[in-house]
Amino acid sequence: MPDPLTGAEDALPALELVLEHARGYIADLSGPVRAPGADEAARSFAGSLPEEGSGTLAAVRQLLERGTEAHVRSGGPRFFHWVIGGSTPAALAADWFAALIDQNAGAWDASPLAAQLETISLAWLRELFGLPAAWGGVLTTGATTANFTALAAARQWWGEQQGVDVAARGLAGLPPVPVLTSGFVHVASRKALAMLGIGRDRVTYCQADETGRLDLAGLERELKRLRGAPAIVIANAGEVNAGHFDPIADMSRLAREHSAWLHVDGAFGLFARLSPRTAALAEGVEHADSVISDGHKWLNVPHDCGFAFVRDPALLPAVFTAGASYLPEEEIFSFRGPELSRRARSLAVWATLAAYGRNGYRAMVERSLDVAAHVAREVESADDLELLAPAPLNIVCFRYRPPGVPEEALDELNRAIARAVLTDGRVYVGTTLWAGKVGFRPAFVNWRTTTADADLMLETVRDLGRRLV
Ligand SMILES: *Cc1c(COP(=O)(O)O)cnc(C)c1O
Repeated sequence: MPDPLTGAEDALPALELVLEHARGYIADLSGPVRAPGADEAARSFAGSLPEEGSGTLAAVRQLLERGTEAHVRSGGPRFFHWVIGGSTPAALAADWFAALIDQNAGAWDASPLAAQLETISLAWLRELFGLPAAWGGVLTTGATTANFTALAAARQWWGEQQGVDVAARGLAGLPPVPVLTSGFVHVASRKALAMLGIGRDRVTYCQADETGRLDLAGLERELKRLRGAPAIVIANAGEVNAGHFDPIADMSRLAREHSAWLHVDGAFGLFARLSPRTAALAEGVEHADSVISDGHKWLNVPHDCGFAFVRDPALLPAVFTAGASYLPEEEIFSFRGPELSRRARSLAVWATLAAYGRNGYRAMVERSLDVAAHVAREVESADDLELLAPAPLNIVCFRYRPPGVPEEALDELNRAIARAVLTDGRVYVGTTLWAGKVGFRPAFVNWRTTTADADLMLETVRDLGRRLV
């Protein structure tokens, strides 16, 4: 009967199977993003709980073989859907090590290694992004939980303005929390507002046009209407459709004038600060009250990883402390964010920053910028493609528009190409709606992606488009 104890000697052979598999896998990262049989391979895992297990090596072999058929090569250089990075070699190896030593990164006593590397990683990230060293911070599972964490600090501050400890007492009896933002706001922030009891629909959009761009005068009008009542303003550093930015420096000035909290969602856009070519886009972030970004996007560490920074470090434990007699009192990362037990994400973050440093990251970001600029130029000079928006960062919003196809048929044509792209498998790219038009929005964040990979994306869109016209 297979039992992990009687099969304990299979641990190393199982890891060797993974290492052996990794040799071929990494050599083939430019292969098809999605294999033609992916759906059937995924469904073939269906079955009831086995009474007798198949044993370590059989289960791992099944996972490697059928699992690879069923997976999406989202860590490879030809994946442009959503905003998903790969893993740098140092981050990947460090993450394997994190699984090997299986730490709980909740507190120093649970793992001096994880705690120390989280402290260092957060300090290095603050340096990398030009944020004040005194800010508090924590690693999270991604940008959604980072937004949740930072907005929970904002909610706590908002309660304190009216003499209420919201973490202790809840929101009952208090007025609605005013939240002001632009049409660029990501669904993740609205999800965070839903989880925080503020309400995902209690957002006032101060937007200037159908693209969602912030209307500064509109924001000022709304802030004045509140007559000094505390409010939360969400600025968006990099929206997901075309990589555009709210005017963060102007928003921070207005927020200060009206004593509002400024939160910046920079899930990938915060990385604009790494290159002098784009730093101006994210100017003023250092004047915000909270800022977040993602690890598994442009930092290129494995899923799942994000980070949150808050100007007033005391607000995180004010919300997230969970005092219990069996929990220690000091260096507690569990009291800075939503999780008690936590994966040691700091190992991969530390390793990749130690391995490549500020200059390596600047080079990675600028490579993505170069690829995006190349795609924008190719689109503009083509007579069958149309750029739908300027591309200030790493996302290019465009559509297929061959001569002779009427305007009213273009949305459905581009949607049909997008469906075909996902089963074609050469590349992965998704669509969006920009100013009422359906277009593609490849996002470039993978450290391996070159202009040749991006050219294959354009070629695939045209190839499938010609077949569908
Ligand atoms: C991706 C993204 C999020 C959500 O991040 P997750 O890591 O998927 O939780 C939030 N905001 C923006 C701007 C994003 O691009």
